[in-house]
Amino acid sequence: MRLLYVFSVLLVVCVAGHAQSPAAPANDSAPAAVPKQLTSFDLSAIDKTADPCTDFYQYACGNWKKDNPIPADKVSWGTFAQLGERNRYLLYLDLKAAAAAPRTALQTKYGNYFAACMNADLANKLGAQPIEPELTAIAALTGKKQLAAFNLEATRHYHGTFLFNIRVDADEKDASKQILETGQGGLTLPDRDYYLNGDDRSKKIREQYVAHVKKMFELLHDSPEAAAREAGDVMRIETALAQGSQSKVALRDPANTYHVTTIADLVASSPEYDWKQFLDGEGLAKVETLNVGSPEYVKTVNEILRTESLDAIQHYMRWHLLHGAAPLLSDAFADETFNFFRATLSGQQERTPRWDRCTSSTDEALGEAVGQDWVKQNFPPTAKANVNKLVTALDVALAEDIKALPWMSDQTKVQAEAKLAAMERKIGYPDKWRDYSTLAVKRDDPVGNAERAYQFERRRNLAKLGRPVDKSEWDMTPPTVNAYYADEQVNINFPAGILQPPFYDDKIDPAVNFGAIGVVIGHEMTHGFDDEGAKYDLHGNVHDWFTAEDMAQFNERTKCIADEYSGFQVAPGQNLNGKLTLGENTADNGGLRIAFRALQETLVAEGAAAEPGYSDGKRDGYTPEQRYFIAYSQVWCGNQREQAARVQARTNPHSTAEWRVKGAVENFPEFGKAFACHVGQPMMPANTCQVW
Ligand SMILES: [Zn+2]
Repeated sequence: MRLLYVFSVLLVVCVAGHAQSPAAPANDSAPAAVPKQLTSFDLSAIDKTADPCTDFYQYACGNWKKDNPIPADKVSWGTFAQLGERNRYLLYLDLKAAAAAPRTALQTKYGNYFAACMNADLANKLGAQPIEPELTAIAALTGKKQLAAFNLEATRHYHGTFLFNIRVDADEKDASKQILETGQGGLTLPDRDYYLNGDDRSKKIREQYVAHVKKMFELLHDSPEAAAREAGDVMRIETALAQGSQSKVALRDPANTYHVTTIADLVASSPEYDWKQFLDGEGLAKVETLNVGSPEYVKTVNEILRTESLDAIQHYMRWHLLHGAAPLLSDAFADETFNFFRATLSGQQERTPRWDRCTSSTDEALGEAVGQDWVKQNFPPTAKANVNKLVTALDVALAEDIKALPWMSDQTKVQAEAKLAAMERKIGYPDKWRDYSTLAVKRDDPVGNAERAYQFERRRNLAKLGRPVDKSEWDMTPPTVNAYYADEQVNINFPAGILQPPFYDDKIDPAVNFGAIGVVIGHEMTHGFDDEGAKYDLHGNVHDWFTAEDMAQFNERTKCIADEYSGFQVAPGQNLNGKLTLGENTADNGGLRIAFRALQETLVAEGAAAEPGYSDGKRDGYTPEQRYFIAYSQVWCGNQREQAARVQARTNPHSTAEWRVKGAVENFPEFGKAFACHVGQPMMPANTCQVW
């Protein structure tokens, strides 16, 4: 699944070299009023003193940036985050009402989930008590042979697995069926490079991380000496796991993550782990094969089990149990976790307020329960129908774009057109809502609720083994401000949360809707044809469908984009990684071209009726084309702490907002034409890259 955008919560573990600041007391009270609806095409955001041909991001967003500093409880702040907060606040009102006076069985369920999470007094009274049974079970282990049984037991809890995890997913070579797989994991810092890089910034973070682990053990009343030894064990084991993990760039190539293996071969490659006991315990005794995503990782875990003492492995397990549960435990644990992962790493100054955290976690646990009521109030059927029309316009435009490509042979074009024709769309919310009747929720048990919600999802996932993929399922909840493309399902998905102003607006001219949500739609479609998507055929199977010559042309063109973006700097000494961000950049570039084509066709087909409010061919002083590019840029208006930008550049497949705008417009000569730029100006370079 490839996303449009990375949530700021994923930037939690972000940044290096930031002075550690103590946790400020959280302001847990919710805002008194609903945050106002965002403005589509925001004239007040534009910095007219800037030259659009020199720095278009500054032109379209300069005043917005000046007027919208990053709040203390955030690491970045922009249009996506503003809309997300508004959606979440509307959801919070539903949850609060359901907690006080539910009118349906579903409202009782999600109201109780929310109320339990909001009960700070209860969390503080319980302290570490909710995880004590598992702490005791870890302490009681007397031999490494028992680890698989314990790992199995631990998967039944929210606090995760310690060595291996398994899940069911589409078979990359035959997407009509689903198979079991095991991947890599087991780290706490954001990426393997945090353990391996030799620069001073990374070294400093590692020191601060070990100090944090030690403090957390001390909160469990371990002596300072014992806690220091335990933290050292954790760091050594995680470093070994990092050495056996693939890089984020390597993981983008399906060839590196597809290794279907017999269980017998898996057991032979990791004899120290009792796979049979683990799989039997999950009710998977009859499984004969599974996909090993990272074979080196399996060998590495085996080596750790062989060489590390039981004591050290117990410390590692104890850490992962504690870290996983910490946000749900008392303030002492939650604050210390905030201090390292939010304050030190990402520069966040205050904890996210409880109403906000609990709204998010209820949405995460019961998204298709809360979403049913949310869409009734926030996503009218007319919006769904209108967005569907936009998707059709984009679909037609991409088909024409493929036909017109100068570098692709007719033979490959037939395949590309067939893939586009096979691409399905999902808009707003599921046709059939998930049934949560087997999930028990208790008003006085927040940790248990989270565990049961995790178990509910895990059971639902494992039950898919051997069955065809259900393409009607959603991977995002309705209020989410994001979108995604699923490679194995060949479908594009747009939750109701993003189909709101300023992305989509019933009352605005098509130029703005095509520039905002239109480019988002084109972006998701283009993922089916970026460097990763092009490896999957119309059935979602990994399969070469380009001729060799066309693939050589394609690689040359994607290399142009990779090299170009590697030259973009996000902070002094920190450039984007063009290979890591290649798929997203290709999708942005393709989306901007395709939506522009769709707009032109709409203007021709509908004439003046398509553009109400234009006098002398302009509205608010801008032509439709100018409004299109400004609308595209303005969905990316945002501020980000410098450290967060550095980490995003190192670990995230999405370029930073500024370069998502500037990179795409620089490659599209229609932009320069719209703003009467001259070839050679920064936003209209002589040499440009184009794939789609
Ligand atoms: Zn994307």
